[in-house]
Amino acid sequence: MEKIFQFITNINPDILMAGILALLFSFEQLFANVKSLFKRTPHLTGSIFLQLGYVAINYGLATLVVKCLNWTDANKIGLFNNIHVPYYLKVILGIFCIDMVSYWQHRLNHTWGLFWRLHRVHHSDTTMDSATTYRFHPLDAVLDNVAGVTAVVLFGLDGTILVLWLILYIPLLVLHHSDFIMPAWFDKTFGKIIVSPNFHKIHHHQEQEYTDSNYGLMFIFWDKLFKTFRKIPVTEIKYGLKEFDEPTKQTFWFLLKSPFINIKK
Ligand SMILES: [Zn+2]
Ligand SMILES: [Zn+2]
Repeated sequence: MEKIFQFITNINPDILMAGILALLFSFEQLFANVKSLFKRTPHLTGSIFLQLGYVAINYGLATLVVKCLNWTDANKIGLFNNIHVPYYLKVILGIFCIDMVSYWQHRLNHTWGLFWRLHRVHHSDTTMDSATTYRFHPLDAVLDNVAGVTAVVLFGLDGTILVLWLILYIPLLVLHHSDFIMPAWFDKTFGKIIVSPNFHKIHHHQEQEYTDSNYGLMFIFWDKLFKTFRKIPVTEIKYGLKEFDEPTKQTFWFLLKSPFINIKK
């Protein structure tokens, strides 16, 4: 068991995401998307460039994040550093805690104007396929790291649990954005526990009521508990944001500078 745990946490999250994305992008080309590869390429390359910036900032913040994790451990900060629980239970509960903090971070990204300016880059995508997984503004990496560190500090977790959550979440994250509609039985069974790709697609609907719903990352409990769960058929979804509909607002350069531009909803 310990060896499996060690193996999983040794996986490089960036390589895992690139591998799964490449696989699903190819499956979409073969089985789902009627668009030619030529038409899909600008969408993919723009997203890759954004992701390169995101990864660069992530690596830039790594030292700071490790310092925070070490400080939390050395000073016995956070819930699980102050109550005795077996490590395996700390891992399981820790994954739920990180996911809950990530839910609230995502919700704040929609509520606070400054955060929304970064996060709307992800929502502005009018084409939904696995490449959307990479479409985050590079500065969004700062918010994601703050959320991860907040979870660690609040609950007294460690870097290994944070990496484990990420490794488990990445395949689902890519699937969330892939151009495959899950069958109803998938939502009825797995959708009781995880955020089904269909539920996340509703979060990408242009209508505000749905954009501001289904904030969950891995588990669906938080949306159910905090009353933000919405469900409509995926076929009724219009992807993107009205204010980003024009093709000139879909380019890499526009998306990169868009957080610094006032764009009315
Ligand atoms: Zn969102
Ligand atoms: Zn998304």
